Amino acid sequence: MAETTQTQPTPDTPTAYGWCTWHKGAADDIRLISAIEQGSGPGVSLFACGPCRDLYGLVPLTDRP
Ligand SMILES: [Zn+2]
Repeated sequence: MAETTQTQPTPDTPTAYGWCTWHKGAADDIRLISAIEQGSGPGVSLFACGPCRDLYGLVPLTDRP
């Protein structure tokens, strides 16, 4: 039985330390939730940490079908 209860991060979505837009603070394991396209200038990327993803039911872009 080699089952593991740990969640394995996918190779193309490494966990990162950064700014969580939802609780407005730095956090580990933030994920890109959405990238808002704007008519001019760079788009706005919204990142959320694990607790905020659970709290607000956020789904990272890379986990969507
Ligand atoms: Zn957060």
